[in-house]
Amino acid sequence: MPDTITIAVSKGRIFDEAMPLLAKLDIVPKDDPNKSRKLVLETNQPHVRILIIRATDVPTYVERGAAELGIAGKDVLMEYSGDDLYEPLDLGIAQCRMMLAGMKDAKPVSERPRVATKYVNITRNYFAEQGQQVEIIKLYGSMELGPVLGLSDWIVDLVDTGNTLKANGLVTLEHIADISSRLIVNKASMKMKSALIKPMIKNLADVVGEST
Ligand code: AMP
Repeated sequence: MPDTITIAVSKGRIFDEAMPLLAKLDIVPKDDPNKSRKLVLETNQPHVRILIIRATDVPTYVERGAAELGIAGKDVLMEYSGDDLYEPLDLGIAQCRMMLAGMKDAKPVSERPRVATKYVNITRNYFAEQGQQVEIIKLYGSMELGPVLGLSDWIVDLVDTGNTLKANGLVTLEHIADISSRLIVNKASMKMKSALIKPMIKNLADVVGEST
């Protein structure tokens, strides 16, 4: 639609931390996704709507133009294989770290340690840069169990407070990346709808204290 802006966001921490930023631009959703099952939320601004989708789908919707804007974690963007997106702004929300972790004092038994993770691309790139051979084991969740049950030597996962690692007897070994949520923009929309999108980026940058 020519004069509308759709913003793709995932439910949970990113939505909860992004809405106060949008509220400062006077964009407020009419429904709360924690209470409503609606996937498209109208806002108080008739030309702006918010799409509630899975975090890993946000770059796909934006790259393909189904949404003009999106808010996605740097972990998701690093893992995403497309590259046709603008990423103009670090929103500084949903901060955490991508870490290598393992059992305390445990040494890998093989020359090619096994690493369990859902972040296969990030893990592959990280160890390629280190020049270390590893075997990557793709998991979809509860990575902490990998070393505990002997499935893997190490894991690569997001760490916030460190409580999940600690509760499972794991320690952090290496810091891979600092993670926070970024504003992403469809490249064609940036040109076609620049009169709507550029002021939004500028205002969001002012709100989070970043320069664009
Ligand atoms: P914590 O116990 O606080 O270190 O949190 C770790 C758990 O929360 C892990 O299972 C992570 O996958 C998840 N987690 C932490 N921060 C984030 C984030 N910003 N986005 C998504 N998942 C996160």
